[in-house]
Amino acid sequence: MSPEPYAFLGGKQVPLAEAKVGVMTHALHYGTAVFEGVRGNWNEEHGMMYVFRLREHYERLLRGSNILRIELPYTADDLIQITRDLVERNGYRQDVYIRPLAFKSQELVANLKLHEVESDFTLIVVPFGAYIENDGAIRCQTSSWRRPDDAMMPTGVKLSGLYTTSILAKTEAVMAGYDEAILLTNDGNVSEGTGENLFMVRDGVLHTPSETDNCLLGITRDCVIELARNEFGLEVVERRIHRSELYLADEVFLTGTAAHLTAVGELDNRMIGNGEMGPVAQKLQAIYFDIVAGNNPDYMHWLEAVTPGGG
Ligand code: PMP
Repeated sequence: MSPEPYAFLGGKQVPLAEAKVGVMTHALHYGTAVFEGVRGNWNEEHGMMYVFRLREHYERLLRGSNILRIELPYTADDLIQITRDLVERNGYRQDVYIRPLAFKSQELVANLKLHEVESDFTLIVVPFGAYIENDGAIRCQTSSWRRPDDAMMPTGVKLSGLYTTSILAKTEAVMAGYDEAILLTNDGNVSEGTGENLFMVRDGVLHTPSETDNCLLGITRDCVIELARNEFGLEVVERRIHRSELYLADEVFLTGTAAHLTAVGELDNRMIGNGEMGPVAQKLQAIYFDIVAGNNPDYMHWLEAVTPGGG
């Protein structure tokens, strides 16, 4: 492991302790940034860090950057290389969370014109274990906060400003004794969790809110759809889901980079199924965990293999 952690900022690797921005930074005031959350999973047996679907994360980051007119001097390939180099240099031999952030970096506060504000890109890598306990089933609350509509703020990419809503919802749920919040769209249909997409199982069919219900186009969601269809021959339907359909479901589960695949056993103090992780969630979770750890040869194309410390 590197004796001190490094970050990437201003076009180069710098010690994390020196990677700072000023108080006048535009993004700090207005949330004018777009970010990603990527996992690197450490495989002790292979002596390898497997970074999961890095290209797709950077493609989403670049789509978000385009919306915010954040012009970066990097292609997806450059960003992949920057990430490989930083993961290599930091040398962690444990699971990590990788956080790329493209932001309006200029120290310019009273300016609301994206095209006049300069941008930068930063990247950090931190050790990271479980985000949420996912060997059992969690308890959720339908949030009093609604997922913003795409007409209010683009919802298909990870715009920093959008996370104020997620954070209000998560805080409300946890302070009320629940593990996670489920947000509805402004017209009352199911959208997603605070940092996860949502699936429900009914009569063996998987259902998930469609893009037009303002959920993030999650990369784990995409994996689950592909695995359900190709590995288990399950039908997957993307459609509008009513709130009360969740109470009637056989299973509900959440998917996301941080949360992996987490079963929901209870929603608004009503049991879902028998209150435990159901068989569909179980088999999808098992194959997903194998894949992200680099233990499924059929899905190595989803992984970027990095040797910590080089080599
Ligand atoms: N929705 C929201 C609001 C999220 O923050 C995340 C986490 N990135 C997800 C869904 C899941 O997306 P992914 O599977 O790409 O991590």
